[in-house]
Amino acid sequence: MTIQWFPGHMAKAKREVTEKLKLIDIVFELVDARIPISSRNPLIDEIVANKPRIMLLNKADMADPDVTKQWIDFFAAQQIEALAIDSQSGAGVKQIVEVAKEKLRPKFEKMLAKGIKRPRAMRALIVGIPNVGKSTLINRLAGKHIAKTGDTPGVTKAQQWIKVGKELELLDTPGILWPKFEDEEVGLKLATTGAIKDTILNLQDVAVYALRFLAIYYPDRLKERYVLSHIPEDIVQLFDEIGKKRGCLAAGGVVDYDKVAELVLRDIRTEKLGRLSFDRP
Ligand code: GDP
Repeated sequence: MTIQWFPGHMAKAKREVTEKLKLIDIVFELVDARIPISSRNPLIDEIVANKPRIMLLNKADMADPDVTKQWIDFFAAQQIEALAIDSQSGAGVKQIVEVAKEKLRPKFEKMLAKGIKRPRAMRALIVGIPNVGKSTLINRLAGKHIAKTGDTPGVTKAQQWIKVGKELELLDTPGILWPKFEDEEVGLKLATTGAIKDTILNLQDVAVYALRFLAIYYPDRLKERYVLSHIPEDIVQLFDEIGKKRGCLAAGGVVDYDKVAELVLRDIRTEKLGRLSFDRP
C-alpha cells in the first residue's frame, strides 16, 4: 500500500511515534539492508532522541553480504549497534533480545538498586518507513500471526503488548515514519528495491538508474544475466541489447523500453541478479 505523505501526515506520524515512545524502553529501528541510509527516516535521531536504539538491517538475505558487513562497522563507528536480520526466515532475529538486554542492563540494574525487586519485561517499539518489514518482524518475534501485514495509517486502536518470551514486550502496532523523498536518488533506490510503488516514479527512469548502478557495481552479474559480451556505455543501447536478448519487443519488432524496464526491475527484486546493495558506506 502506498501512503501519500503530506506535511500534515508527517506531523501526525511523528506525533504518534513520539506518544508511543513514552511507553517503551528501547527502539528497534528497522531499515532495508540493501539501502540502510535511503530507507531511514531523515528525522529519526531527533524523533527517537534519548531512547536506546538498535538498528536492524532487515532483508539482509537480499543484500550483498560484504556490503552489509561494511555497514555494521560503519554504524558501530557511530556508536550505533546494527544487526543483520531476515524477518521472513527468522535468521538473526534471536539476537535482538540478547542485544536489547545488554543495552538495557544499566537501566534495569538501577531499578534493582532502587529496590524494585521483580524485574519487568523490556518494552520495545519497532519503527521504520513503509515496506521495510515491520509487520513481518512483529509476526516473527511473536511467533504467530498477530500483526497485519501492510500499513493502516490513521487507524487508531488500543495499544496492545505482544509477549516475546519472558523478557520482552513489543507494542503491537509499529511506528510508521516517512523516507527522505526530497532526495531524487533516494526515491530511485526506494523504487528499485520495490519499497515504493512503480506508479510513483517513471518506470524507465528507475530502470535507467538501476542499470547504471549495476554497470558500475555489479558489471559481471549484469553481463551474465543478459548475456552481454560488454556493457554498452550508451544506456539506450543497453536497453536495446537487453530487449532483443529477452524478447521485449513491440509491434514491428522494435524494442519496448517499458517492457525492458519492467523486466530488469523484476529481476532485481526477485534476486535474479543475486544479492545487491544500493547504498554504500
Ligand atoms: P511493513 O510495511 O514495514 O510492515 O512491511 P511488511 O512486513 O508488510 O513487509 C513488506 C514486504 O517485505 C513483504 O512482502 C514481506 O514479505 C517482505 N519482507 C519482510 N521482511 C523480509 C526479509 O527479511 N526478507 C525478505 N526477503 N523479505 C522480507
